[in-house]
Amino acid sequence: LSDRSAQAERLESLGKLAGGVAHDFNNLLSIILNYTDFAIEQGAGEGTAQDDLARVRGAADRARMLCRQLLIFARSEPANAEAIDLNLILADSRDLLAPMLGEHIELSVNRAQQPLLVHADRTQLDQVLLNLIINARDAMPQGGAILVEVGDTEIDEDQAGAQPAIRPGHYAELLVRDTGTGMPPEVAAHIFEPFFTTKSNDRGTGLGLATVYGIVTKAGGAINVESEPGAGTTFRLLLPIAAEPAGRDHGAPPARPPVAH
Ligand code: ADP
Repeated sequence: LSDRSAQAERLESLGKLAGGVAHDFNNLLSIILNYTDFAIEQGAGEGTAQDDLARVRGAADRARMLCRQLLIFARSEPANAEAIDLNLILADSRDLLAPMLGEHIELSVNRAQQPLLVHADRTQLDQVLLNLIINARDAMPQGGAILVEVGDTEIDEDQAGAQPAIRPGHYAELLVRDTGTGMPPEVAAHIFEPFFTTKSNDRGTGLGLATVYGIVTKAGGAINVESEPGAGTTFRLLLPIAAEPAGRDHGAPPARPPVAH
């Protein structure tokens, strides 16, 4: 347990540092982008100078995207936690995600029959799902299938011991499974570390899963991964089920109608 909490603490201070740097960098990049646009519009220099300016612009744009990701990573604390049904996160995910996946990737989404109330920040849960799905896509350059599924599960003392970050209890579960490249154990061992990536410089930042890890563990949950090279990968997230609102399913009996006098 101390290992995990030490890692959570390291992630938190790294997040604060990264967030501060990203914020200041973002401002500086805005200045660079504004002046570069200005120079391009004014037709500064001719021929190659314009090409050079376009390159400056492209690089500054990429740097700004990296800053945005850093800011998201830094904000992995439950800012606006509320009781939210995990099914809702999947509700319009298909429409949102399909264009990003292209034609060669088939996306299946299985929602649960029952509400799965968790205490979390809606935007952060969207972020978690998006990160996992982008990774699944990137692992299937030749196409394949992604399954997203939610449900609930009881974690007993034994299972909780195997995942030291959580307590025994009732958990909502989110599975994201792909039929992609999978990863060897020596890669899987590092995927939650900030800045660990096997992707090329302009595709990966190594912040996606570190962000997911931060969001999930701060919400009292856990995340684990099973992966087989050549076969695919399954991410399994557990989030504690929040107390059900009274009067919903098996809560308080319906209020008695007012007595007429
Ligand atoms: P990034 O996507 O920017 O590389 P992440 O933190 O999201 O950063 O992922 C870290 C690494 O974990 C990836 O570079 C990849 O090697 C590995 N990885 C993550 N998800 C998958 C997956 N579904 N299949 C195979 N490898 C994965």
